[in-house]
Amino acid sequence: MTSLVNATVSADQEGQLTNAARCLVCRGCGAEYPLSSQHACFECFGPLEVGYDPELLARVTREQIEAGPWNIWRYAGLLPAGQAPADRVSLNPGMTPLVPADALARELGMKRLWVKDDSANPTHSFKDRVVSVALTAAKRLGFNRFACASTGNLANSVAAHAARAGYPSMVFIPYDLEPGKVITTAVYGGHVVAVEGSYDDVNRLCSELVETDEFEHTAFVNVNVRPYYAEGSKTLGYEVAEQLGWRLPEQVVIPMASGELLTKIDRAFTELVEIGLVPPTSWRVFGAQSAGCAPIVTALHAGSDVIEPVKPTGIAKSLNIGDPAAGPYALEAVRRTGGWMDYANDDEIREGIRLLARTTGIFPETAGGVVVAVLRKLLEAGKLDPDAETVIYNTGEGLKTLDAVTGVGPTHTIRPSLRAAAEAGLLS
Ligand SMILES: *Cc1c(COP(=O)(O)O)cnc(C)c1O
Ligand SMILES: [Zn+2]
Repeated sequence: MTSLVNATVSADQEGQLTNAARCLVCRGCGAEYPLSSQHACFECFGPLEVGYDPELLARVTREQIEAGPWNIWRYAGLLPAGQAPADRVSLNPGMTPLVPADALARELGMKRLWVKDDSANPTHSFKDRVVSVALTAAKRLGFNRFACASTGNLANSVAAHAARAGYPSMVFIPYDLEPGKVITTAVYGGHVVAVEGSYDDVNRLCSELVETDEFEHTAFVNVNVRPYYAEGSKTLGYEVAEQLGWRLPEQVVIPMASGELLTKIDRAFTELVEIGLVPPTSWRVFGAQSAGCAPIVTALHAGSDVIEPVKPTGIAKSLNIGDPAAGPYALEAVRRTGGWMDYANDDEIREGIRLLARTTGIFPETAGGVVVAVLRKLLEAGKLDPDAETVIYNTGEGLKTLDAVTGVGPTHTIRPSLRAAAEAGLLS
């Protein structure tokens, strides 16, 4: 296995940052390993994550970040790869708008509300962040083909990144994905493998493929380079803090599939406080799933630490992971910060999509509908403080899940004449 250590560049070299990543750490038992493509602990089989040198992280300054590019790489000093621009495999996502949602706040009886709109990324979902970091690490580690197990957006992003960087790709998806997700992936020309099963079946197949000789040089972004992939999600925490003027929001509402995004936004806030880039204020983390796939929410509501896998159903397909790998860490973050979780059914999700569109001009995919519907539920249940500053995350684009929006069309259909317009009541 190649190591990432030789990717470390000196801070003295002009225009280059130090890679503060030091090792891979087991999330279960704390065992440490070199920065490589290992993804499970040899001791306890627990998942690994990137460990950093705290002194190197603490050297990162606001000025350094603000002088960086207008994308995720402005935070390269806090990431495990991509410190040298020439090393990056990236569509340069990030710095997506933090949109004040005053009309939505009024409608819900809230004071200050923003939408972090990650549909504004190159392939229109937050997955461009994790893919850029994972593939940049993968290139350094010597992989020559890119792959993933996907609920849709990840496949889209991996295929696009591979096309831009000139690498072959092979992405694996459940066979029943939305046409909008399949077309936006297949158009890049890589292999798209539709698997007759659920995402969890797809993921299991990829875990088996990755062990074969034929796939030895293939980086599955969320399997064998998952520790690097997960770090990309931190940028959704860093950006919100910077966009608020270097401070943390009081409440955040985040959609959950594997639970990794939620876990890493919370981690980003923790890091920013530790490094001293923001004042040490407290925040509360809230999680959102769909009723058709709510294993993490169910565990929280039952007061349990054990996440019982489910067989996903429902329209929020991008969140349909029945056996969520980071579920226990998402539970921990929500409990530690005093937040909560809830789920929304398909009708509530559709309403959520239209409510966000009508009040902000942002047309979210089903995952965004889940977040808006759950925001409303959390307010109604008194779990979320309507007076506290709140950021909700829209992680994907409505045009990819058009089939989810029913009952929307022309409000009037008329003949092309003034009389017809008048008859239809348009002149009154
Ligand atoms: C993948 C995805 C998520 C959740 O990601 P996890 O890190 O697996 O929890 C949320 N929203 C959208 C649109 C996604 O594609
Ligand atoms: Zn371990």
